[in-house]
Amino acid sequence: MRIVIASNNAKKREEMIAILVELSIEVMPSEATAFVYVDEDGETFAENAAKKAEAFTHANRLPALADDSGLCVDALGGEPGIFSSRFAGEHAGDAENNSKLLREMTDVEGRDAHFVSALHLAFPDERPPIVAEGRVDGVILDAPDGEHGFGYDPLFYSTELKKSFAHATAEEKASVSHRGRALRKLAEQLKSVV
Ligand code: IMP
Repeated sequence: MRIVIASNNAKKREEMIAILVELSIEVMPSEATAFVYVDEDGETFAENAAKKAEAFTHANRLPALADDSGLCVDALGGEPGIFSSRFAGEHAGDAENNSKLLREMTDVEGRDAHFVSALHLAFPDERPPIVAEGRVDGVILDAPDGEHGFGYDPLFYSTELKKSFAHATAEEKASVSHRGRALRKLAEQLKSVV
């Protein structure tokens, strides 16, 4: 099956394609994909993923897969959550978001956190969408550690990998990550509809 990925985030796209290839799902190159601006004003990861996927499938007339994801920190009541990409402001980059997270965590008790990925695969025909969610638990470090990945990876210590996500290889991260888990669940469901 050929799909488009409903995302402008190159790093996220790269991670998704690496996992989708293993699952024999072909992804249209970004140059051949019509991009649409989507206002992510939903109240949940799942709502935002649905909005993105529906807009991209409509614009491309192909199945479209969206991931809406983020970091939820227990001591911050689940923040930054759905606001993860714009935690430090609408146009904030990863470094600014990471700095803000460390500031917010200065005097808090407990550093438990988890990433969530909500996936939504929308079809341009009458087939109902396929949705899946994945989660990975970890701890927020006191300072960034590692160079790989993107977003909050340098601050996220995976209790399963026993290293920060920014120290993990792409394969290691995919084996436990919220996105890897969600994609594998989605692929299972996909088998029954194609
Ligand atoms: P989205 O593109 O609106 O879903 O925003 C996702 C944001 O959540 C990213 O910009 C990152 O800040 C954060 N995020 C999601 N997944 C990851 C991950 O795998 N590693 C690090 N940060 C992530």
